[in-house]
Amino acid sequence: MKKQHRFSIWYAILGVWLVLLLHNMIASAFLVKNIPYSEFVKLVEEGKVAEIAISENDIQGKMVASEDGLDKETLFRTVRVDAEIAQLLDANGIKYSGRIQSNFLGTLMSWLIPIALFLGIWIFMMRRFQQQSGFMQIGKNKAKIYMEDDVGVHFADAAGVDESKQELEEVTAFLKEPERYTRVGGQIPRGILLVGPPGTGKTLLAKAVAGESGVPFFSLSGSEFVEMFVGLGAARVRDLFKQAKEKAPCIIFIDELDALGKARGVAMTGGHDEREQTLNQLLVELDGFDPNVGVILMAATNRPEILDPALLRPGRFDRQVLVDRPDKIGRADILKIYLDKVETEANIDPEKIAGMTAGMVGADLANLVNEAALLAVRRDKRTIGMAEIEEAVERLVAGLEKKNRLINADEKEIVAYHELGHALVAMALPATDPVQKISIIPRGIAALGYTMQVPTEDRFLLRKTELQNRIATLLGGRAAEELVFNDISTGAHNDLSRATDIARSMVREYGMSSRLGQVYFAPPRQAQFLGTAAEAGREYSDETAQIIDEEVRRIIDDQYAVALRILRTNRDLLNKTAKTLLVDEVIAGDALQDLAGAVQAPDPEETVVPDAARRIAAA
Ligand code: ADP
Repeated sequence: MKKQHRFSIWYAILGVWLVLLLHNMIASAFLVKNIPYSEFVKLVEEGKVAEIAISENDIQGKMVASEDGLDKETLFRTVRVDAEIAQLLDANGIKYSGRIQSNFLGTLMSWLIPIALFLGIWIFMMRRFQQQSGFMQIGKNKAKIYMEDDVGVHFADAAGVDESKQELEEVTAFLKEPERYTRVGGQIPRGILLVGPPGTGKTLLAKAVAGESGVPFFSLSGSEFVEMFVGLGAARVRDLFKQAKEKAPCIIFIDELDALGKARGVAMTGGHDEREQTLNQLLVELDGFDPNVGVILMAATNRPEILDPALLRPGRFDRQVLVDRPDKIGRADILKIYLDKVETEANIDPEKIAGMTAGMVGADLANLVNEAALLAVRRDKRTIGMAEIEEAVERLVAGLEKKNRLINADEKEIVAYHELGHALVAMALPATDPVQKISIIPRGIAALGYTMQVPTEDRFLLRKTELQNRIATLLGGRAAEELVFNDISTGAHNDLSRATDIARSMVREYGMSSRLGQVYFAPPRQAQFLGTAAEAGREYSDETAQIIDEEVRRIIDDQYAVALRILRTNRDLLNKTAKTLLVDEVIAGDALQDLAGAVQAPDPEETVVPDAARRIAAA
């Protein structure tokens, strides 16, 4: 704000100065004393005229008059009068003058011209500034909030995101008939957060909700708030909600919520004051509005983990909808939408194209079809054929690989075995959470694939064997890599970190190591929380520390051996399933049941090596 003030003050001073300067220049041109010709003649006779310049119509010059004993020079002008008439008039003592133009116009012009000039320059500069940046848009808040009365987008325009669509359908129902919900006293969520990688169709879905319900759609992007001056973002948020309430029922959509809603106090760089203010205003508005008026706030982010927790509290963005990368069937569905809009040859096969585009999202696929169309035009063809599609895929894949969003065939194979490693170990061991889905579709920023295990019930107590089995499951990925490729990859780093955490807790907190007994070795919770070094609060000897390390290591090693043994037993099944997974990318439902049924458990005696047995063996 301060900067802004200084800026306009200098502008104003410059402006006034320019106006005065120009005024004086023009005034001197216009404000010359006009005198009657008869007076001029008298002045000449009195010897008061210093110098003159005679032109066709007038005479201009300098006269010297003494006032208060001082000689003062004045510029004058007089309109020439016919010499003969002048003589006649002089002889008869008549006062006369040439007709002179009114000076009013001159005075007016001397003010108007500089002002007009100044305004012209100013407007010109404004335009230039605006083109270069959003710098001068102060006070023009409304300009950047986009409102569409009829977005013309429907759920049918988005494919491959059926689960997300289902979740959003309730919102549509509410917007169509809010009374039905409010009559029962039902509370509709105020804020819905669409979470997913870029280009998966989050904006598209938000628009589809508006389109399906036939309500206006307000949208703006989180990053637009932040590059503004301090205080402006907050004003904009207020403005947005005000406008939206007037148009209710409607949808407000904030894209890139993470740009605005990053956890407060985390930013190291300057400028987060503005973001904080804006975020606070957003929270205030979120809390302040009554959802029953029919304003529904939707936002999109691909980084939910960095959002300020305050945003996710109940009553704010309390519902999250995952908009994930499409699987093969989803991709085929999306392709069908876009291929329908262009002219294609009969040999086009969306399923086949879907098989070639693992990892691509809706935006990539839309782009792919467009690229193929351009190629067809370049080749003077009227329709798109498989050849164009294949070439477009190659081009896009090359581009996307650079961006690290697509994985190459080798990596895909490693990921497939890795994920199956987790799954088979989990299936072979008792008391593990059932596997719900195995996928090698890259997800998020780090994970290349995932094995989803969902607990069947809430657990408050975990037995030692369960913890051990969890560790074995986590290590199953790496074990599979070692077994199949005789080499290991970096893909396991998150698994290792989680397995180590469990093992360390078993040893230090749960007294599950017979070598250390039932002693609690972890630093007090408070110290952990404050982030003080664990060392500082350590209340045990170096020897104990060493034993802790050894025990953690031993637990991990034991469980790794368990995982390896299970995978060796099921080696054929592993190879066979990996092949299907590489083609289908996802194993779920019946196929998963079949797989679980086929997994053989290794000898249970061997699975869990009791500490006691081990000590006896070691002795
Ligand atoms: P996001 O907001 O998730 O980054 P967008 O909704 O802006 O992605 O998607 C960009 C474009 O990609 C959309 O306008 C649409 O053309 C296409 N697109 C993305 N996802 C899908 C989908 N699931 N179905 C159909 N088209 C999609």
